[in-house]
Amino acid sequence: MGKALIIGAGGVASVAIHKCVQNSEVFEEICIASRTKSKCDELKAKLDGGKTKITTAQVDANNVDELIALIEEVKPDIVMNLALPYQDLTIMDACLATKTHYMDTANYEPEDTAKFEYKWQWDYRERFEKAGITALLGSGFDPGVTGVFSAYALKHHFDEIEYIDILDCNGGDHGYPFATNFNPEINIREVSANGRYWENGEWVETEPMEIKRVYNFPEVGEKDMYLLYHEELESLAVNMPGLKRIRFFMTFGESYLTHLRALENVGMTSIEPIEFEGQQIIPLQFLKAVLPDPATLGPRTVGKTNIGCIFRGKKDGIDKTYYVYNVCDHQACYTEVGSQAVSYTTGVPAMIGAAMILTGKWNKPGVYNIEEFNPDPFMEELNKWGLPWVEDFNPVLVDDEPAKTKEVELVR
Ligand code: NDP
Repeated sequence: MGKALIIGAGGVASVAIHKCVQNSEVFEEICIASRTKSKCDELKAKLDGGKTKITTAQVDANNVDELIALIEEVKPDIVMNLALPYQDLTIMDACLATKTHYMDTANYEPEDTAKFEYKWQWDYRERFEKAGITALLGSGFDPGVTGVFSAYALKHHFDEIEYIDILDCNGGDHGYPFATNFNPEINIREVSANGRYWENGEWVETEPMEIKRVYNFPEVGEKDMYLLYHEELESLAVNMPGLKRIRFFMTFGESYLTHLRALENVGMTSIEPIEFEGQQIIPLQFLKAVLPDPATLGPRTVGKTNIGCIFRGKKDGIDKTYYVYNVCDHQACYTEVGSQAVSYTTGVPAMIGAAMILTGKWNKPGVYNIEEFNPDPFMEELNKWGLPWVEDFNPVLVDDEPAKTKEVELVR
């Protein structure tokens, strides 16, 4: 049915590529292109021989001209951006120049400022519309499936959604005292930033990890979770009519937080360049180099993830609650595609998002967040491709008030 150019060959891309090859009816041909070509070749060697034709290429995705030349050579129907958030705009520029559909899993973040927001990508709306091409933003799990869950809840279960709590639980254990489950640089930039949630039309800012809750996750058990700012809050606050509040919580273990605090205290998480033995280095990038590569965590990670959304709102004038979530087993993912569940839960929706565009199910020119499309075909595909969802119409809710607890004072 179509041809995809996949940029990036890391943890998420590897899963997405396995899934594209499984879905060969839609992905007849893929080209895997990344900074380090040998990683693309390794994936090709592993997956060649099936119905999907695989080629590889080297590309620096920071360079628009190189990207344009590659797109012109490969002639894909869609570019799947599975590199890093820093490359979003250069890849969008190349898609515009070549009139090629675009998708990604994370919004743009300038390399020198730990600040991610949709503004930069939303600015491309008119240009994509005029070019007659679609940009699908945020087709991972969160953002991604959480947006699809929101659109689905609104379409099928509510007249109005007032409250959304997104709960991201990783109950997995990799056995290391400290490691991140995806790109350490991106992960640490995210969790060391201030927390933020949206309430009554305004953003409320918190200190990093200031708000803590304990939640008993289905199939995982009780975990500490902390309020973080996460990028889907920005688009869902705009795209969910009548919304009063949206929050995002992620689980972290004590060991992870203790290490993170120590690393922060000694300056290892800084993105300000420093001079070291005559060279400029960025401490966070150096830290990334000494931490375990997330791609190597697969064989050692056991346990499950549980990511979902709790909605509260009204249906036919009556209060209603709805929790929809996915549980994913690290070892089952590893057995299937050689990666742990964090890459799996992002790579599968990346493949599905691209398939939505290639099959014409989601086809409107412009730049859109995932919740702006019809959720139904995506929800069906989640069940089909390894991320089945579970519904609960009477879930335990996350406390509303007070936002800051005494326990939190102790934690800090
Ligand atoms: P990895 O670091 O494992 O992989 C990144 C890949 O991009 C590597 O292959 C890297 O190449 C390549 N790359 C980096 N810079 C360039 C460049 N300039 N040109 C070409 N290729 C480049 O990251 P992950 O796979 O863990 O994450 C991929 C994306 O997914 C990130 O944007 C991340 O934020 C996002 N993500 C989204 C989630 C969601 O739920 N929405 C959850 C988790 C991640 P090299 O091998 O040379 O380093």
